[in-house]
Amino acid sequence: MSEKIKYDIVVCGAGIAGIASAIAAARLGKRVALIEKQCLIGGLATSGLIYVYLPLCDGRGKQLIGGIADEMIRRCTEYGPFDIPEKFGGPAGGNPGLKGDRFRCCFSPAGFTLTLDKMLVEAGVDLWLDSVITNVTMEQRIIKSVKVFNSSGNLEVFADQFVDASGGGYLAAMAGCKTIVTANRLTPWVMEMAEDSSVYHFTESLHIRSAWNCDASPDGLDDARYGTVYEDCTNGKAVTDFVREAWSLVRQSYVGRDPKKNYPVHLPAMPQLRKIAYIETEFVLHDDDHSKEFPDSIGEIVYWRYDGNIWQTPYRSLLPKAVDNLLAAGRCMGAENVAMEVYRVIPAAAMTGEAAGTAAALSINENCQPRELDYNILNKNLHTRA
Ligand SMILES: Cc1cc2nc3c(=O)[nH]c(=O)nc-3n(C[C@H](O)[C@H](O)[C@H](O)COP(=O)(O)OP(=O)(O)OC[C@H]3O[C@@H](n4cnc5c(N)ncnc54)[C@H](O)[C@@H]3O)c2cc1C
Repeated sequence: MSEKIKYDIVVCGAGIAGIASAIAAARLGKRVALIEKQCLIGGLATSGLIYVYLPLCDGRGKQLIGGIADEMIRRCTEYGPFDIPEKFGGPAGGNPGLKGDRFRCCFSPAGFTLTLDKMLVEAGVDLWLDSVITNVTMEQRIIKSVKVFNSSGNLEVFADQFVDASGGGYLAAMAGCKTIVTANRLTPWVMEMAEDSSVYHFTESLHIRSAWNCDASPDGLDDARYGTVYEDCTNGKAVTDFVREAWSLVRQSYVGRDPKKNYPVHLPAMPQLRKIAYIETEFVLHDDDHSKEFPDSIGEIVYWRYDGNIWQTPYRSLLPKAVDNLLAAGRCMGAENVAMEVYRVIPAAAMTGEAAGTAAALSINENCQPRELDYNILNKNLHTRA
């Protein structure tokens, strides 16, 4: 009979949120399996060719977020070519890749991946690559195990606590939670070589360029300059259509260019979906929840579009309603519309990931479920505030 695979905590997805969760839990002495379906880590932030670590500050010079989000931004430029701003500890005369004095910077997606892996090694996390979670076994409201498929075949992994950092609430949905689907507009980016310039340079000629003819980020879904709106990308057909339409737009963007001088180098390895679905949690953040105080806040974040637009993050937005031993982290946490815009980015993924991993570990220590965890104990162990 094969050996039973048992961890303290299983984290689904090695994006920024999953990595932060796994590191936080491992630092509290837990045995953590971080299970990732790709052979890359960092999720959308790296394999989706994202290259801007959005601000950890309030936009007015004060750093809001600390902990693992802070460690990540300080290390994301380790393999070049950018720097964090001098004002927040970067080298004098360095190049954050972006103007202004916010605590943000550009990074090389490949370089950041290498750094994230080092952070996992340092924390002692067991990383499972090329391994997809396909199902769960349940006992009432408790997840007992996850079914994992990889090149070893079908495996079953048991744990006491689970974190859904899958970006789309996939683990929560498998466990019977309600997930709420969100729409996306197609806005593909490509890493390319070109003699002339574009927005973000890794060298004089290697850079990432938007292939939708506009450098600005689309604010909503109603701007006709951008690509097709996809209402629901939680099924394989829609994801395939989304990705292939992106390739088509990239192809069109090369019409009339000189292929000897300007050519694609790398395409995103993940669909560039800003949002997929969020989990129905005990509290779902709404559009008017900025500038509010929550008694169970696990940290603050600024809406990256606007200076001074501060959001406190209730712990309840990480607690799925329908399952007891599961936490949500990153862009599938409970946040909708504008709130989701605030929380779907890298600093929020790192912050909520750290909180989820910490809560999972402390719940094991306290012999309780995350929703029963004493907030004071959680708060005392969080490093998410600067
Ligand atoms: C076009 C675009 C531009 C963006 N620009 C910026 C920007 O400039 N700055 C910024 O900060 N953010 C930006 N973002 C958003 C940001 O990069 C992501 O939302 C954030 O990194 C999400 O992190 P996450 O960890 O929550 O989820 P994800 O990165 O989605 O990670 C989830 C991981 O889970 C894995 N997974 C999913 N299901 C399973 C399963 N069943 N089994 C195993 N593994 C699984 C996935 O493969 C993935 O690695 C942008 C997004 C898009 C689409």
